[in-house]
Amino acid sequence: DIDENQLLSFTPAMRQFVEIKQANPGLLILYRMGDFYETFFDDAETVHRTLGLTLTSRSALVSGARIPMAGIPYTTLDQYLLRLVNQGFSVGICEQIGVPGKGTMDRKLVRTITPGTLTDESLLSERSESCLLALYASGKKGKIGLSWMIISSGVFKAIETDESALMSEIERINPSEILIPDSMRDTAERVFPDRSVTALPDWHFDRVRAEKTLLSQFGTSTLEPFGISDSDLLITAAGVVAEYARGTQGTELTHITGIVRETDSEHLGLDAASRRNLEISRTLRGEQTNTLLSTLDHCKTAMGSRRLLSWLTSPASAQKTASARSDAIEILLESMPELENIQDFLKSIPDFERTATRIALSSVKPRELASLRDCIPSLNVLTENIQKLAAPLLANTAEKLPLPQSLYDLLDKSIKKEPNTFIRDGGVIAEGYSAELDDLRAIKDHGGKFLVEYEAKEKERTGIPTLRVEFNSVHGYFIEVSKAQIDKVPDNYRRRQTLKNVERYITPELKEFEDKAVSAEERSKALEKQLFDEVVEECKKYVTELFESAHAVSVLDALSSLATHADLYRWVKPEFTLNPGIDIKGARHPVVERTIENYVPNDCELSAQRKLHIITGPNMGGKSTYMRSIALIVLLAYSGSFVPADYAEIGPIDKILTRIGAADDLVRGLSTFMVEMTETASILRQATDRSLVLMDEVGRGTSTFDGLSLAAAIAEDLAVNRQCFTLFATHYFELTQLEKTVPNVVNMHVAATETNRDIVFLHEIREGAANQSYGIAVAKLAGIPRNVIRGASKVLEKLEERAAQTDDRQLDLFCAPAEPQFEQAAEKETELNELLDKIEDIDLDDLSPRQAWEALAELQKTA
Ligand code: ADP
Repeated sequence: DIDENQLLSFTPAMRQFVEIKQANPGLLILYRMGDFYETFFDDAETVHRTLGLTLTSRSALVSGARIPMAGIPYTTLDQYLLRLVNQGFSVGICEQIGVPGKGTMDRKLVRTITPGTLTDESLLSERSESCLLALYASGKKGKIGLSWMIISSGVFKAIETDESALMSEIERINPSEILIPDSMRDTAERVFPDRSVTALPDWHFDRVRAEKTLLSQFGTSTLEPFGISDSDLLITAAGVVAEYARGTQGTELTHITGIVRETDSEHLGLDAASRRNLEISRTLRGEQTNTLLSTLDHCKTAMGSRRLLSWLTSPASAQKTASARSDAIEILLESMPELENIQDFLKSIPDFERTATRIALSSVKPRELASLRDCIPSLNVLTENIQKLAAPLLANTAEKLPLPQSLYDLLDKSIKKEPNTFIRDGGVIAEGYSAELDDLRAIKDHGGKFLVEYEAKEKERTGIPTLRVEFNSVHGYFIEVSKAQIDKVPDNYRRRQTLKNVERYITPELKEFEDKAVSAEERSKALEKQLFDEVVEECKKYVTELFESAHAVSVLDALSSLATHADLYRWVKPEFTLNPGIDIKGARHPVVERTIENYVPNDCELSAQRKLHIITGPNMGGKSTYMRSIALIVLLAYSGSFVPADYAEIGPIDKILTRIGAADDLVRGLSTFMVEMTETASILRQATDRSLVLMDEVGRGTSTFDGLSLAAAIAEDLAVNRQCFTLFATHYFELTQLEKTVPNVVNMHVAATETNRDIVFLHEIREGAANQSYGIAVAKLAGIPRNVIRGASKVLEKLEERAAQTDDRQLDLFCAPAEPQFEQAAEKETELNELLDKIEDIDLDDLSPRQAWEALAELQKTA
């Protein structure tokens, strides 16, 4: 905090810095000074700490006092920027805009780089997107407005939601940066501890200001066409996103010409837990291999991979969206050689969605334009190949694929075959595009001939056969003569440089040539830059077509990828039906089936009569894998993919909700049990008769009776009140009684057999309850020491006998008609009871050490 008076004590350059920093307190400012981007004060400490750059100091006050400083060489800016942004910093870049050497240099904040607004090729990884989201709640009726923009792919959307669905929407949209009003800062940081949150002054969230921003962004006089005009929440959130995004790029976002409003019911609901548990794009351990996406991704372009990700993470709830895709996949599979052809062409297509964005932002590089040009013919061939295939989605794609011939012609005549990387180095504009440029280049190039002739001429004139005309970048052109010959040097040679064995000279004639060549070089570079800018400007007219074509490529690539996978693993096309229910034969887990040689397929029938499956059976028996495979098949079907099964018929599904044992959520400081109950509560609130619910071992996190009672009540509520389709895996054998009282509940179990007291898992899901839990056999398998296993077996036997005797104490969980579960078998006193009696009988007050030893020995014999 620095006031006006203190400001005067700074040197002029530092005063500018302080002013910029004060206006942008949230940014780490990189301040260009000559060959460095300097950072000061706390920013310098940050850069020193996170990037390991040397901390120095500089005099910043008129009084000469020094402040901390750390600098980044300007040539390595990109690599340091990437590291700063990856660590979640928002960075402001200030460039010098004055002419060096003429008074105080002016500096301006030209660009800000924030996690949600990345567009630079060097900062954005090709498979991921940087998404900026604004969240706005007005306090009325608990409604929340969300609007998000992916600058690099021209996406701009908005949706109205409420508190209960907020987290799952955020998980779906997966923003890299969330904008919120300052007054919500504390709440937001608590609710989104793992996301980058940027608080803006509350007055940014102003409806009138927001509407103005949007109208000017879209160039329209009303927001009516975009379907958001009735929602103040959405207008406000969208306006904030647009303004912030525009500010960061330091240029107009000409490619954002509208906003799309989404509705709640448009997507298959996936709660945050399901997204994690189903390991769609990240495993529970946080890895990106062995996920659903990595398994299915045979895409040839980054655009295709991004499309596939969005299909899998935001499946549409409409069956027709999905079936249009699976119809297309079916056609692709029927024309197999064509599919391979298509993929071969796709390989040669660059990521021109990003190129289109950079054209719109005027930040496109010469080589990107060249690759765009070179792929246009491939796009045309692709189009022809696809037109032959009879699927509506493919026909639609084929229509959007080709790019205009006029764009090709423009790039073909203006850009060299293989242009330089940077326009500042020249060598980008093609020969014949500009007569003026060709002339300037000729001067430079024909210079070679002049020099050869000049050297010959001077050799003859001076009689020095070893004389040479040369060039270096420091001294320019010169004539080099060895020391032994310098007495022959004519009068008009002026010394330029003396080395050990040679002298270097310049002549008026050579100097004149040098001036002309240098200025031709400079002028030709400046002209190339100007011409290039004009070409980019011209390309902007094609941005909409470029995005449409890029979208078509991504759809085609994603479909081809799904077709390839379906072919490799013999997946089938799912049948959609309007009858509620799921009927799958031979279901497999898409990821596990690839890693296991003999995967055992299983069936699943969920219907009005079979709504809740209580699944019992040993640990490691395959319960989780089975439940996940069913959820994944439903997810895949709604994404438009074929599915890993022999047959699948799937009715209307609105949500997939899961509660599967997860690790402690230590970040939020919640115990396992608390997480379990929170997730379950949210499922009980959200589930409808169209939802698929997975419950794995609910109630495990607390004492047996608590857990059992909760699990029982939860299962009953799901079956009776929610009426959702539920797979309910449990260890509580008591829950198998539910089948007797609730008609739509069925018992299932994973089969296992015991041979020689070793357990063999069959991984088969069968009708009926499990008859044993095999816990001890599994423990043995896991390497629990022999003596402990023996001890446990004995205790178990005794407990079971005792349970048999005291059967009247069996919990009557579901108010079922009192049916005895076990045979009354009270003839024989159990060994356990004998043992307990004996222990009780020992009189500790009256026992010598010797007697104690004997008592123990006796007990051990009985045991
Ligand atoms: P549970 O949830 O019953 O403890 P899991 O579903 O975790 O069991 O499965 C345990 C292991 O059994 C898995 O890691 C997998 O290797 C194997 N498995 C599961 N299902 C099958 C199957 N259908 N076919 C073959 N192996 C399976």
